[in-house]
Amino acid sequence: MADCIFCKIAKREIPSDVVYEDESTLAFLDISPASLGHTLVIPKAHAETLEKLNEKDLKSLIITVQKISKAISKISEGYNVLQNNKEVAGQIVHHAHFHIIPRKHGDGIHFNRPNPKFSEKETRQIIERIKTLLK
Ligand code: AMP
Ligand code: ZN
Repeated sequence: MADCIFCKIAKREIPSDVVYEDESTLAFLDISPASLGHTLVIPKAHAETLEKLNEKDLKSLIITVQKISKAISKISEGYNVLQNNKEVAGQIVHHAHFHIIPRKHGDGIHFNRPNPKFSEKETRQIIERIKTLLK
């Protein structure tokens, strides 16, 4: 897509610190890293969000995510894999991507997760809605 910064990175129209590339995926360092080695993995073909990726690109993407994770697991004490979809979920760049964030004890990275309670009725209803949508 013409105005997409990650498409431009994939086409090498703008520079990035590439750590891995294959036919359909690219991995490069995040320009504003949460920790040293924070890597982004993208499909070369544009898709805005995870659910819009075609199966072939999705498979290639997750294989690259694991490849990078294997390397990062050797230089960290652990790592987070994050994937944001749409602005409400924190997506800033609208080209699907995974973050792989190396972690170490005491690194000060915190992901805020509230712990709301839901009624039995609400829980049953959401199970039914999701199941129906999967049919
Ligand atoms: P998200 O909030 O999941 O959309 O994350 C987008 C990420 O892309 C952010 O962590 C940015 O720091 C990163 N980013 C934006 N522009 C670039 C760029 N030109 N090169 C590398 N990373 C970038
Ligand atoms: Zn794009």
